[in-house]
Amino acid sequence: MIPIVPAGAAPAATPDNTQLWLKPGQIALPGSPPLSLYVHVPWCVRKCPYCDFNSHAVPGKDGSHDIPEDAYLDALRADLEQSLPLVWGRPVHTVFIGGGTPSLLSAAGMDRLLSDIRALLPLDADAEITMEANPGTFEAERFASYRASGVNRLSIGIQSFNDSHLEALGRIHGEREARAAIDIAQRSFDNVNLDLMYALPGQTLEQCRSDLESALSYGTTHLSLYHLTLEPNTLFAKFPPALPDDDLAYEMQDLIEARTTEAGYRHYETSAYARAHREARHNLNYWRFGDYLGIGAGAHGKLSFPNRILRQMRHKHPATYMAQAMAGNAVQESREVGADELPFEFMLNALRLTDGVPASSFHDMTGLPLHAISRQLAAAEKKGLLDADPTVIRPTELGRRFLNDLQEMFLKD
Ligand code: SF4
Repeated sequence: MIPIVPAGAAPAATPDNTQLWLKPGQIALPGSPPLSLYVHVPWCVRKCPYCDFNSHAVPGKDGSHDIPEDAYLDALRADLEQSLPLVWGRPVHTVFIGGGTPSLLSAAGMDRLLSDIRALLPLDADAEITMEANPGTFEAERFASYRASGVNRLSIGIQSFNDSHLEALGRIHGEREARAAIDIAQRSFDNVNLDLMYALPGQTLEQCRSDLESALSYGTTHLSLYHLTLEPNTLFAKFPPALPDDDLAYEMQDLIEARTTEAGYRHYETSAYARAHREARHNLNYWRFGDYLGIGAGAHGKLSFPNRILRQMRHKHPATYMAQAMAGNAVQESREVGADELPFEFMLNALRLTDGVPASSFHDMTGLPLHAISRQLAAAEKKGLLDADPTVIRPTELGRRFLNDLQEMFLKD
């Protein structure tokens, strides 16, 4: 039994079955959005003080960091098997193995995970399969093996090349490990993303420039450049470090914009920069309001049916998740998204994209007519936050600067 929260109603406990999701509802979707798969691996060597992800420290002895790999892979398979009736026959275009630190999985473990996914889901022949990896967990042989198993894109959590900033961020690696990780990655992978953060505690513009130049020097296909923010329920929120002020943070953003453009990257999403045709396909599907099945501890999912959109959340704690998944109850909560919430949910994602989305995709992805948001579109256009082109929903430069204000215009009244 899974608690389901129907749209516009108080939480209620009712059986989760596909038939229920196929009943008439508040919307009419013309077809199924593209489907992706997200797999969460919930362990890290250490918890970083700024991190609000569902990650749990597994301090190891003598350099080993044992996670209950076999039991977790059993739970993921059980979770996936239980989820199949909700996505029958739908091809999967991208897979993202995130965390946590998925590079704590052994080569054999990753091979088993990808074999299970292929056996159970119709994965596209050219599917993008990304895994996240953290410096400090890199061994050349293991990464070559991940590649041989089918992982074809690597996303590395570098964050900074500056040892004192890495220490302030509580990372387990230093500059040396960061550079070694990129070298190892580039030996086996031609599609690599580097995650970097700016506006770090005490960071100067020159230090930001130095981090950026180091990242650019590797010529990877993709960069994700995040402004460090203090998230609730983190150690940094409780004991806030001194961060650069807004003016300095803007200068850093301008520097990033200029240097990435010069180096041949396109700023296609709030924090994402890619070489031509190397955008992150998995993330693009999120931003375009596509569907994703999320398996693993605390994983979130969004799935569409002809007359409703469903959001799911798995049990968060790894031990609870594993026990519940093996008992056939991996999902902790399923919630139908109300028709009045859909415009904001759609815009929250679509407006992050520099090119925006075709105006027709609002109906394709939400099942609502475009006129449901015509008043807000006109108001945003009048304020200069959205382009006037009626065939696309695209933020202007001003709209991208004031993204939160623009997104909030689509909140339900
Ligand atoms: S390594 Fe990443 S997921 Fe793990 S605690 Fe640090 S920021 Fe969070």
